[in-house]
Amino acid sequence: MKMSKLFVQTLREFPSDAEVISHKMLVRAGYIRKLTSGVYNYLPLMWRVLKKIENIVREEMDAAGAQELLMPFVQPKELWEESGRWEVYGKELMRLRDRHNREMCLGPTHEEIITSIARDGLKSYKQLPVNLYQIQSKFRDEVRPRFGLLRGREFIMKDAYSFDMTQEGLEKEYANMAQAYTKIFKRCGLNTKMVQSDSGAIGGSVSHEFMVITDTDAGENDVFYCDSCDYSANSNHAVSKLPEVNEGVKLTGDWQTAQIVDTPNTHSIEELCDFLKIPATLIVKTLVYIIDKKPVLALIRGDKQVEETKLMNAFGGNDIRIATAGEIEEMMGVNGFDAAKGFIGPQGLKEYNGYEITVIADETVRDMKNFVIGVNQKDKHGIGYNWDLDVKLPETVTDIRLVEAGELCPQCGKPLKVTRGIEVGNIFQLGTKYSKPMNAVYLDQNGKTQPYIMGCYGIGISRTAAAAVEAHYDEHGIKWPLAIAPYHAIVIPVSTKDEEQMRVANDIYTTLKKHGAEVVIDDRDERAGVKFKDADLIGFPYQIIVGKSIADGNVEFKIRETDEKTAMKPEEAAEVVITAINNL
Ligand code: ATP
Ligand code: MG
Repeated sequence: MKMSKLFVQTLREFPSDAEVISHKMLVRAGYIRKLTSGVYNYLPLMWRVLKKIENIVREEMDAAGAQELLMPFVQPKELWEESGRWEVYGKELMRLRDRHNREMCLGPTHEEIITSIARDGLKSYKQLPVNLYQIQSKFRDEVRPRFGLLRGREFIMKDAYSFDMTQEGLEKEYANMAQAYTKIFKRCGLNTKMVQSDSGAIGGSVSHEFMVITDTDAGENDVFYCDSCDYSANSNHAVSKLPEVNEGVKLTGDWQTAQIVDTPNTHSIEELCDFLKIPATLIVKTLVYIIDKKPVLALIRGDKQVEETKLMNAFGGNDIRIATAGEIEEMMGVNGFDAAKGFIGPQGLKEYNGYEITVIADETVRDMKNFVIGVNQKDKHGIGYNWDLDVKLPETVTDIRLVEAGELCPQCGKPLKVTRGIEVGNIFQLGTKYSKPMNAVYLDQNGKTQPYIMGCYGIGISRTAAAAVEAHYDEHGIKWPLAIAPYHAIVIPVSTKDEEQMRVANDIYTTLKKHGAEVVIDDRDERAGVKFKDADLIGFPYQIIVGKSIADGNVEFKIRETDEKTAMKPEEAAEVVITAINNL
């Protein structure tokens, strides 16, 4: 490919609306152009990268025994009603109507469609197990499309679905997919961590995510991990050893009997601690949430935070938000935010807006004694309270706590660390979550109908490309891993007017092409500086610069990953590239 013909427009500056590296780089280097919020054109360079990732994914999925198919992008409402998700999926599901007023959606994922395909085609145990996958565009009307390809509304995903007869069969396939994923990301030049995670809207019980670990803002997930053992989990799923109950404070006379005391203007845990001169570990904190329109109180030890996904799952909902000041006032039946803020407690609150108020307690409060708690009175708290004597311990006591770094590993007891990660793929054990409601069954050996035991396995193809940039760049541009770079190499004649330089450059270019390398020759009549800048920005892994040193029979060979330059003979330079691509 001649640089003069390559469809690419590099920009002098980073785009002003881009927040993260990969978005900035991919726009500036001419890979993508925004069409509308969260929707991008993949220009020729980008498309080459995406196809390479797709091919790696395809090769490894095929090698793992999965079969590729392609399902429609537009899906009918009826199937989503069968699974029960039409109601619960929420606004991310882009719904539309056709001319006959039939309701449809743009596929955000394909469990319903694949389950209907299986139901029609997999009737006997003799046909199982099966794993089917596709590589296709998805549409999710994300609340906050941002970070370019990392969180788009339209994006490319590989999604696979497995059908088994037994849980053991599913677990075997799950392990098979985990192994394939590890290979895929490694081949893409990415270091990933497989971490335990919440299964979210897709459902099921066991799931893991593959995270590209990054210290940049692009890492939307907190990953807790242990250096001493293999424990690692997304913050929405991470657990730690329960902290010890606070026994550090000697409780004096007054605290031994439950009573309501004045605590004026204590609207926060800190203010309450200061006023009562106690640590936060003696306070049962009450937080108010609205989950699927219903009021939920969460009780947790004063020094800990609630993990909203865990709380939502404990309640069994799909949509969670913290209650507004006005809602809390109404719930408590008091007037003015200052009257409510900081003083709410679980006792005596029954219903709100026609819904019963549910109380869910975190495990950290279960063993607390002589604690402080809100009693729904302005400027007052209960002190010296004990469960069931003074206030009822909620029926649901479970883990709704956000883990913090330094807390102890649930497996080995060593302190946990935290880092940020970009989720590039995930695997779920779905079980019968879709097959049962959709009546997707096969006949077993005894002629009995059984629902398939399913698994599903996703990889964000376009997100993986962006994550690769987050992991491989410097201030001058992208440093693509060789396996997914749009081209392997660029040959740069410093002066196109110099016949000798052009002759050598063309020789190298032809040799490389002959050996299967994907190569660009920068034939533009531009200043050398411009050419070098573009080559670094676009991120060609190998750059062969043909300049004055050709008089000594040498070219400059630059490796973008390290920016290391070496003088060598033209044929040697070509040889290095050819060897590298043969080793891919
Ligand atoms: P996230 O928590 O980041 O929203 P998810 O749990 O919704 O991801 P899945 O539904 O399991 O993701 O989709 C499978 C894969 O598709 C993800 O691992 C991710 O790589 C990719 N993906 C999901 N949402 C997006 C998006 N909005 N833009 C780009 N890629 C995405
Ligand atoms: Mg999502």
